[in-house]
Amino acid sequence: MKIGVLAIQGDFSEHIVMLKRLGVETTEVRLPVHLAGLDGIIIPGGESTTIGKLATDYGMMEPLRAFGKEHAIWGTCAGAIFLSKDVRREQPLLGLMDISVARNAFGRQVDSFEADLDIPQLGDGEPYHAIFIRAPIIETVQGDAKVLSTLPDGRIVAAQQGRMLATSFHPELTSDSRFHEYFLTLAS
Ligand code: GLN
Repeated sequence: MKIGVLAIQGDFSEHIVMLKRLGVETTEVRLPVHLAGLDGIIIPGGESTTIGKLATDYGMMEPLRAFGKEHAIWGTCAGAIFLSKDVRREQPLLGLMDISVARNAFGRQVDSFEADLDIPQLGDGEPYHAIFIRAPIIETVQGDAKVLSTLPDGRIVAAQQGRMLATSFHPELTSDSRFHEYFLTLAS
């Protein structure tokens, strides 16, 4: 199994560290040629407008869309925004997942927070400690997309559509590898 991490902006190196810890072969993806031979790709947190602009400049938009139709793909925070169909403003989006997203839904950087989530798909019933940094909310989940997790007030923070995952939070910034392990089951 080989998993790429889109490495044009954001916290891609933390995803790479986590994948290596799990014994998975991994590579940084910047150009279409780097997608060859991958079983899945992770789009990290960062700034979704910058990721979209650079992905456009590097000719990555169509190759990523084609890759995501055939393989596992997971966006964390800015990556989840980039995967979505709609953010109610103009910015380059892959539009692969049938979710609409509200950016910066909890306020500014100083309003970042952590919360324990219930995510049944992780299997063991232990709460998942999630880190939210100027995070988006998944406002609606349509079509084949399903809610994976919500905050206690019902706001959606993780969704899945087939082999695609979107999380408002940052599993790569914790030492808990369960979300990465779950993604690997989708990629295999
Ligand atoms: N606020 C960023 C955006 O809208 C996402 C922040 C993050 O990835 N931690 O793109």
